[in-house]
Amino acid sequence: MLVLSARQCPRCVLRFGSSSELEQHLRLDHRPAVPQSESEPSMSSAKSDAAPAETDTGTSTESTVAANRRHVDEAIIVAALIVFIAVVSWHVAAFVSVGMVAAVAVHASYRSAGRNGVDPEA
Ligand SMILES: [Zn+2]
Repeated sequence: MLVLSARQCPRCVLRFGSSSELEQHLRLDHRPAVPQSESEPSMSSAKSDAAPAETDTGTSTESTVAANRRHVDEAIIVAALIVFIAVVSWHVAAFVSVGMVAAVAVHASYRSAGRNGVDPEA
């Protein structure tokens, strides 16, 4: 009967008399990685670098794969954004230079027309 009431830790060989003792042991000795959100805010930024090293359980491996996939997606989005900005800025520069040349040409033609005694606005 004593064996039935004892709580076996699912992560190690330790046994505890009550479930509250087991929960406390789990919280202190087997800290869950995700629910530690507000106690250590700086851990989240440091964890992104250290995440691939700690692949103890299957769940953390899955989250690492998901994080890597997210990093790949971010890299693709950033690369696409850089290409988009480069293409747009090149087009803007081309349009501006073409527009300036066109404006100078129109202005020059108006001035030459005015010098010939023809009023272009009449
Ligand atoms: Zn344990």
